[in-house]
Amino acid sequence: MSRILVVEDEPAIAELIALNLRHAGHDVTTVADAERASAAVDAVLPDLVVLDWMLPGQSGLALARRWRADARTRNLPLIMLTARGEETDKVTGLDAGADDYLTKPFSTQELVARIRAVLRRKTPEALEEAVAVGHLRVDPATRRVVAGGQELRLGPTEFKLLHFLVAHPDRVHSRKQLLDRVWGDHVFIEERTVDVHVKRLRDALAPARCASMIETVRGAGYRLVESAQALSTP
Ligand code: CA
Repeated sequence: MSRILVVEDEPAIAELIALNLRHAGHDVTTVADAERASAAVDAVLPDLVVLDWMLPGQSGLALARRWRADARTRNLPLIMLTARGEETDKVTGLDAGADDYLTKPFSTQELVARIRAVLRRKTPEALEEAVAVGHLRVDPATRRVVAGGQELRLGPTEFKLLHFLVAHPDRVHSRKQLLDRVWGDHVFIEERTVDVHVKRLRDALAPARCASMIETVRGAGYRLVESAQALSTP
């Protein structure tokens, strides 16, 4: 289930969007201004933000620019809403870092479809779709992990961690980023918690000889790679 933050000051529109997104299986939070949106994102990083351009106080556009300038929120998936349909506005919105742009009035079905497309591109772990790297396949719908035909048993946190790593292979993720994206808490949980769960995850992957797919990158974090040795070493 994906966490979606809707920033919209018109209550009727916010409610309509929230209703439709919940119906599509998302976990939705709505706020009515940039200040509350900032606070919500500071607390827990959502999987995607639907952001209205015209807000009381700071505009959605200024907020988008601010998020793009911050390392933690640089890649936060963002769909902008606007009542203005001019081409220059669209360009401005996309320049500010929006991943997509919808002009009011829009159909909620179209918004749901656009959200799905942005999530697939940027946060595939937020969708209930199976992901795979090499022999290792993670299916969130059935909560199954299969490696070369063998089913592996993982605890809930190890499952979420593996799902995230398989959805974003080859990239190095810092402990802080993993806490933010997998645990949803980058403030109160200690970074060594990540190490504890990575060790458990490697232990769970060991029977399929996939433990070495999770690399420790000294001083940086962890990375999942498609190991040539997985399943082939005795
Ligand atoms: Ca508005």
